[in-house]
Amino acid sequence: MHTLEVRTAVQAIEQEIVSWRRHLHAHPELGYEEVETATFVARRLKSFGLQVEEGVGGTGVVAWLRGEGKGEGLCVALRADMDALPVTEETGLPFASRNQGKMHACGHDGHTAILLGVAKVLSEHRQSFAGTVKFFFQPAEECAPRGGALDMIDAAVMDNPKVDYVFALHLWPELPLGKIGVKAGALMSASDRVRIRIQGKGGHGAAPHQAIDAVVVASHVVAALQTVASRQVDPLEPFVLTIGSFHAGQRYNVIAPYAELDGTVRTQNEALRSTMPNRITSIAQAVAEAWGAEAQTNYEYGYPTLYNEPHAVEAVSKAVAEVLGEEALVELTRPSMGGEDFAYFLNHAKGAMFWLGCHGPLSPDAPIHNGKFDFDEGSLAVGTSVLVQATLNTLRLQRT
Ligand SMILES: [Zn+2]
Ligand SMILES: [Zn+2]
Repeated sequence: MHTLEVRTAVQAIEQEIVSWRRHLHAHPELGYEEVETATFVARRLKSFGLQVEEGVGGTGVVAWLRGEGKGEGLCVALRADMDALPVTEETGLPFASRNQGKMHACGHDGHTAILLGVAKVLSEHRQSFAGTVKFFFQPAEECAPRGGALDMIDAAVMDNPKVDYVFALHLWPELPLGKIGVKAGALMSASDRVRIRIQGKGGHGAAPHQAIDAVVVASHVVAALQTVASRQVDPLEPFVLTIGSFHAGQRYNVIAPYAELDGTVRTQNEALRSTMPNRITSIAQAVAEAWGAEAQTNYEYGYPTLYNEPHAVEAVSKAVAEVLGEEALVELTRPSMGGEDFAYFLNHAKGAMFWLGCHGPLSPDAPIHNGKFDFDEGSLAVGTSVLVQATLNTLRLQRT
């Protein structure tokens, strides 16, 4: 399949991809509940004549496509995530969410539609390549710190045949439509969760001397934790510690007996990451002790850092140049502090995630995870073309 054929083949089904996206967008389902989404996906994959397995790692779907071209060919896997977010949609689109309080606010409707498009194009041209393509439709990407990727991997999707390269994309509204963002090395961060429970002693709001005020102690813990980034971590090292949730007390005139903090820690350096449980535990403990309270820290490791393998990035960059032209390529210099469980797949095979520019002239000025988020649907054909071409280029590589 030549570059020109890829573009023509994608163009021919562009309206279909858009209609899949709109259907998925109108019917969002949260992580591990993607039942109708999975059925929708599986039905289409079967109609393309692919071998399909449902209920993989929960609600995941896997499809296999064997090339009928001459030669050996590698095994390339492509992954899309299918879950939506507990966000109330405010776009006013005619195909807006019909499921109250749920929305495809991270573009996973687009990812799923694109991967269906790739499956359709490649299945129609299976004589033109050798090797195996696996399609992973993954549940629960948004369900950090565990996430659905591990469940798919535990279900052995990376074996039989063993995956040589794995690719994924993410719609990226910070890049304009027609641009593709690539970066070798760290693209996204490790994201962990930390919960701290401060145990004080409740009492009358008018008699603080008889109580240990958990609100005051926890406030000092939150403030002290800010010094991890500012005083303990190399200033040139990407790092974030955010306490996003602080719950304490029930009544204005009662001193709260306990407080619960819940936060996220983002790193891109395993050595630094491994010091975090101890650092945070000792700060919380020391601050609490100074006030006669107690702190219990629970540190949960989440998604690892997402590392793009340089050869895989090269394969994507080459595909971008071929189907869109050199000028479409944006070499990213800085990673994101966001997390992505696609990182787990990259622990089992070489591969890369790239960012698909999706902000068009009519797109709202809203980031992902926002109730007003929407993207230019022109990006669906762009993403499909790049993934098809990158897959074809990679299938031809030598096994190393
Ligand atoms: Zn997201
Ligand atoms: Zn996402």
